[in-house]
Amino acid sequence: MSRIKVLSEQLSNKIAAGEVIERPNSIVKELVENSIDAGADNIEVRVMMGGKRGITVTDNGHGMNAQDLILAFERHATSKITTEEDIFCVKSLGFRGEALPSIAAVSRVEMISKTAQEATANKIIFNFGTLKAVEKSAGNTGTTVKISSLFLKIPARRKFLKSTQVEYRHILNYLHCQTIVHPHIHFTLYHNDRKIFDYPAMKSAEKRINLIFGNKFKEAEFIPVNSFESSSLCVKGFIGNFEKSLELLPNLKYLFINGRFIKNALVYHAIAKGYEPIIKKFGGKVPPFILFLQIDPKLVDFNVHPAKQEVRFVDTSLVYRNVHTSVNLAYLAWEKSKFLDLRERVKENLAPLGEPEKQIYYRMQKSGTPAVGTKSDQLDIFGEKVDEDFTEEPSIKRTATQISSELSIINPWQLHQSYIFIQDEHGLLALDQHAAHERVLYEQVLQRLNGATVVTQKLAFPIVIDLPSYLAAGIQETVRENKEYFAKVGIFIKGFSGNSVVVQEVPTELKEWNSADFFISFFEDLEQRLKKKNGFKENLAASIACKAAIKAGEKLSRAQMLNLINDLFATQVPYFCPHGRPTIIKIPISDLDKMFKRT
Ligand code: ADP
Ligand code: MG
Repeated sequence: MSRIKVLSEQLSNKIAAGEVIERPNSIVKELVENSIDAGADNIEVRVMMGGKRGITVTDNGHGMNAQDLILAFERHATSKITTEEDIFCVKSLGFRGEALPSIAAVSRVEMISKTAQEATANKIIFNFGTLKAVEKSAGNTGTTVKISSLFLKIPARRKFLKSTQVEYRHILNYLHCQTIVHPHIHFTLYHNDRKIFDYPAMKSAEKRINLIFGNKFKEAEFIPVNSFESSSLCVKGFIGNFEKSLELLPNLKYLFINGRFIKNALVYHAIAKGYEPIIKKFGGKVPPFILFLQIDPKLVDFNVHPAKQEVRFVDTSLVYRNVHTSVNLAYLAWEKSKFLDLRERVKENLAPLGEPEKQIYYRMQKSGTPAVGTKSDQLDIFGEKVDEDFTEEPSIKRTATQISSELSIINPWQLHQSYIFIQDEHGLLALDQHAAHERVLYEQVLQRLNGATVVTQKLAFPIVIDLPSYLAAGIQETVRENKEYFAKVGIFIKGFSGNSVVVQEVPTELKEWNSADFFISFFEDLEQRLKKKNGFKENLAASIACKAAIKAGEKLSRAQMLNLINDLFATQVPYFCPHGRPTIIKIPISDLDKMFKRT
């Protein structure tokens, strides 16, 4: 006799239920998704004791006739796909035809349904996999499903159910996801006959989100995201910033793909990457997000997980690139707009200055000498000849004093010789002078590595650096392999006998790079970076920027502060230093008002 048997339909439904029906929320999910697929725009969910005592879902969708009502409980019976190709182009939430038979295998189910064409509704009753009745019933167009006695005859499953509160939270979280992604559907939830929410149909997801999360969502200042390019993938939604959203709604991490709540490591990674390099500062924590991806159904496979919470992408790099770039651009645009007011004002003040005017102004500020407006005075004060072009230029009418007084609408001040404070329209801005200058220098060095010219000075006495032995081997190799990069940034360097290297030229602005000790600490820093991160150019730029930037504790003149702010805003990523620390933060006047209990 054969040892292998084909299992009965009842038993195989029970096995399928093990995968599909994990807890009461699994039933809520399957029923609500059926209602959405049926085109309902009004869905009411009633649960008792976290769904353990009972679940009822009512919709006003297209309903079913008596014949379909019976068929719906057959295994693999579905109206949503027909051919093999359809599996790879799923447009509905359901398609496996497993949910209803699975639910019916582990509970008591009563389903009443009516189509618009029929005069009366039909009712079907199943009891733990056994069909009990099919009969006429009262009912409106649409479907009502009542579930009771969940896992009653399966104690092994029943004992895994958690407390009412835990099971209820699962249902609430799931329904919140659905209400966000389907804002045009009116959703109502009752728990133990108490109305929990009643969200009328709305035009946009944003409106729903505001309704669900209330003031917190507004206060957290979520950043809107839009696809950066049009393709077979559309990315929309909101991402959090590090200042408020991480504090107010840290756990809000919702990813929807074609209307489904999905967990996907690739997309999560692309989101996190979109925050680079900023994210490092926050220990890799990703701020909250609500992202909606709409992707050509042919490019995504939902048939991966029985509860359809996971996906496989046909073109992973398309998804990765789109999500990463869309998040990145949205974040940077937001940072930019935050400081727009200040930037405009600094630009307004500095932009009208022609190059020769700037020269005078900067020198004046450097020497601390009051400027005067005549040609001969200028020559005397600065001790060098000012460009002929400048003195002849008829359009330049303002004197350095005038320019200086114009700039006094902006009045930066330095705190503890480390932070620069400046007022803007909405409050107070604070710059970390070292981090800000690091960003400026970092980009400048990168530009040089990419071909921008550098002015160097030949050292009258080349610096011979006796490298300590722990550094020698690594640095000599680094110098040998990357001589060309060092030269591009203006540091002419070559290997020497034993443990030594020789520096012959440095960029003119790095005058203080004139001692062996200085270079040793620079090399140490560079070696540390090379150990941690790939990319010689970036590491070299970061290391030079770190060593050459203004330090905390250095006093700055007003002109130096203004120039630093201006230079910072001229960079590509003004808001973060190369290590991802913020260069500038904003303290809105409204926060101060709150602290002083004015509001
Ligand atoms: P699937 O959703 O994967 O097709 P189900 O077992 O969940 O499988 O449902 C089987 C079929 O029953 C569906 O394809 C659909 O035709 C029908 N059905 C289920 N629920 C509803 C509903 N609320 N309104 C209308 N039709 C429904
Ligand atoms: Mg279904």
